[in-house]
Amino acid sequence: MEPLQEPSESAPEATTPECAELRTELARACEGALVPEAGSPLRAHLRACRACEAEYREALRVTAHIARERRVAREEQEREQRRNERLRLARSPRSRRSFSLAIRTLVLPALLILLLTRTSNNEVEAHVKALKGEYSLGVRRIDATKLPQPLRRGDWIVTGDDSAASLTLGARHEVLLEPRTRVCVEDRSLGRMLFDSGAVVLRGTRTLTTAHAVIELEKGELRAVGDGAGVDLEVRSGSCVISDASGERVLSAGERARVGAP
Ligand SMILES: [Zn+2]
Repeated sequence: MEPLQEPSESAPEATTPECAELRTELARACEGALVPEAGSPLRAHLRACRACEAEYREALRVTAHIARERRVAREEQEREQRRNERLRLARSPRSRRSFSLAIRTLVLPALLILLLTRTSNNEVEAHVKALKGEYSLGVRRIDATKLPQPLRRGDWIVTGDDSAASLTLGARHEVLLEPRTRVCVEDRSLGRMLFDSGAVVLRGTRTLTTAHAVIELEKGELRAVGDGAGVDLEVRSGSCVISDASGERVLSAGERARVGAP
């Protein structure tokens, strides 16, 4: 397992006396992926100082990344165990024939289908459309009379005070953005999104990254509401896995959780 990156290594130099004064407190917050208390000097400083804020965000991002890596490693180990078990069964003389038959009739066609659908998914266009009011896409402001706009990786979408927008993949509505919401598309197939603030409803199998956690929705519907301090999650159907600094947990349909500050 990788150790946490030392926050000071990649950090910009402290630039003001206030930065220097809050240095220790900032390092502690970064190491523990802690959210500074409301009203604390560090919280106020992070709002005002770009350098310290960037350092803090990066530390949280690294923490979320490590949590995800841990989960991937564990899944890999489980897959390996299942594979060994199948091999062990296949090597026993009685089942050898049926195992190789199963490979030819089931596994290979399934792999082929998986490969084909994955390839075609990458070619599907993703769009954003205002349902009411207007939203901004980068520097452009777009209202409900306009056609759906194509999305590219790294696009920021921000909805207005009394507006809503939907992100679609092909013909399906996949993500609903409620008023005053900021999200960034991490990849064009909308499988991954960066959630900054506001409220979104996700459907299908998607990954939402927040300042504190990676949230992986599996074939379901999830509503996320919050901001940089914390995000409330409600799983309406399917299930989701939350990976954050404290490890990972699974939420099933009907369950709620909060990530970030309580
Ligand atoms: Zn600072």
